[in-house]
Amino acid sequence: MTTAEYDFDLLVIGAGSGGVRAARTAAAQGVRVGIIEDRYWGGTCVNVGCVPKKLYSYAAHFAQDFADAAGYGWQLEKTPSFHWPQLRDARATEIQRLNGIYNKLLDQSGVQRIHGRGRVLGPHQVAVGEQVFRAERLLLATGAWPFIPDFEGADLCIDSNQIFDLAEFPQRFLVYGGGYIAVEFASIFHGLGAETTLVYRGEQILRGFDQEIAAFTQAQIAQTGVQLALKEEITRIERQATGLLVTLSSGRQLEVDQVLCATGRRGHTEGLGLETVGIEVNAAGEIPVDEHFCTSVPSIYALGDVTGGPQLTPVALAEAMVLVHNLYSGQAPKKMDYQSIPTAVFCHPNIGTVGLSEEAARAQYAGVRVFVTEFKPMRNTLSGNPGRCMMKLIVDAASDRVVGCHVVGSDAGEIVQGIGIAVKAGLTKADFDATLGIHPTSAEELVTLRQVTRS
Ligand code: NDP
Repeated sequence: MTTAEYDFDLLVIGAGSGGVRAARTAAAQGVRVGIIEDRYWGGTCVNVGCVPKKLYSYAAHFAQDFADAAGYGWQLEKTPSFHWPQLRDARATEIQRLNGIYNKLLDQSGVQRIHGRGRVLGPHQVAVGEQVFRAERLLLATGAWPFIPDFEGADLCIDSNQIFDLAEFPQRFLVYGGGYIAVEFASIFHGLGAETTLVYRGEQILRGFDQEIAAFTQAQIAQTGVQLALKEEITRIERQATGLLVTLSSGRQLEVDQVLCATGRRGHTEGLGLETVGIEVNAAGEIPVDEHFCTSVPSIYALGDVTGGPQLTPVALAEAMVLVHNLYSGQAPKKMDYQSIPTAVFCHPNIGTVGLSEEAARAQYAGVRVFVTEFKPMRNTLSGNPGRCMMKLIVDAASDRVVGCHVVGSDAGEIVQGIGIAVKAGLTKADFDATLGIHPTSAEELVTLRQVTRS
């Protein structure tokens, strides 16, 4: 088949962060691109992930701000009350606006948008309903989908796709899981006024994070008023006249209005037709790819959450840029760099982190120096807010390089984005020490830490 006989040079399935970025950057280089999407233009991030979650997180923060205000002399005439439909609908309007922008950007860059569900028919063919499109290369960017474990009454749970549009605000809210989504939504619904319980099967939430940071965050979240039910699993949920009766593995029962299952996300590959081309997915539904994002079929590529790497928007965006560069720029190929990816968890308080946890650094380096500080932020003095802040630097003792930075506190993500540059650049503790602080801020602690906590 010659190039002219193809409908597209590149046909992308999935218009999320990775798919849209690949489509637009390829089209900008004169590549004939089509993109197929049946549901969420802009993907999880824009529709049912990062963006609406952050809006709800902002909303939830007001509760603490109102409480803090009195210590600073503000008298609130009336107890503030929260109106869920107003927030929900304002969010929907904002997301609609963003969808419009995404579509406009795709149209302006010359990408052909195809509405429908794409199903792979062959190495160069995709069906959308009755239509069949042919392309020189296919890119699978279908993302991930919430996974709900099997237990009696699991169908009574909602997942993170459904949480944003609830008809009614759940006054009693239960979150199942101890990862990113669970802790973020526990904080959000608690902040918005729900009596909130987080049920997690382990002893300490946020497995995989620096353990000291996870322990501190857990204590801070509990201090805000979220109830933690640890070393517990949900064994059954039953609908009752007054709510959902949840039974835990210990036998404990509690009645709530909604159960959010935040127990991980799996590759969104069901119904994608991969079996027709012999692409095998793993147990988590993820598509294996090589370092060039190529699947076992040479004309089919995949990137983003569906490939099982770090499930983060900036990772998918960066992967898309690398792929398009390598396929179409004619320049020397690039390799995606997965080292020192900064990330934030928008629980209350926030976590910002970049580089290695203390545990990972100890495994990787012969010697590490660890600097930890834990303090009451200045903002919490007059307000009487008991929330505390933790900052932690991990240094490779041999090279003096800062290999990890972790912050728990207000705007931790904003702080760590900057520190991410320093860690990526391989700066040393001496460079941190030579940097003057911005006074008075919490973040200045990161350049004034002199006392080694552990080595
Ligand atoms: P995570 O992998 O972060 O957490 C999943 C949680 O569910 C873990 O606590 C896990 O426990 C628990 N779990 C898994 N399987 C079961 C089971 N069968 N029964 C009971 N509990 C179970 O996934 P999330 O769903 O929270 O989020 C998915 C991904 O999305 C994240 O990993 C992250 O990459 C991304 N994300 C990023 C955000 C950000 O950047 N701020 C925000 C939200 C999501 P255990 O630890 O014991 O395995």
